[in-house]
Amino acid sequence: MNCKYSKKFKNYLEFLTNRLIPHMNHQEYTYTLQYEPTADPEDDNTLASCDPYDTKYFEYVITIYPPLFEEYKKKRYDYVSNTMLHELCHMVTGGIVGFAYKHIPNHLADEFTKIEEQQTQRLTKIVFDLLPKDWYLPKEMEKK
Ligand SMILES: [Zn+2]
Repeated sequence: MNCKYSKKFKNYLEFLTNRLIPHMNHQEYTYTLQYEPTADPEDDNTLASCDPYDTKYFEYVITIYPPLFEEYKKKRYDYVSNTMLHELCHMVTGGIVGFAYKHIPNHLADEFTKIEEQQTQRLTKIVFDLLPKDWYLPKEMEKK
């Protein structure tokens, strides 16, 4: 069944992304949020993904999957915002990671992916903890 993302959810993700970009020093990038109607074929539980390895023209795409919308509907805003921040942190780790993927042997790729995800998540936690309390709550969307 195809997921129908609400306008409210899309606005919320735009709010989170625009709120986070200045903290990530990503202002030179143009981003697109792409909404997949069906689950990630590789992993049903994927919330979102970002491809940070081809940003030659300062553009990147964050792909959103139905499970992230489910979390939003459960009002798990901390989890949703953490996920969006994690995807943006991939833009920070992506340069060195993209270079490494070109040069490491295939048999080490899975282990390397695990390290990439852990370092990206560490960075996510560092940035999240530095942000003001409750910054990610929908009521903050009203404030300018
Ligand atoms: Zn990740």
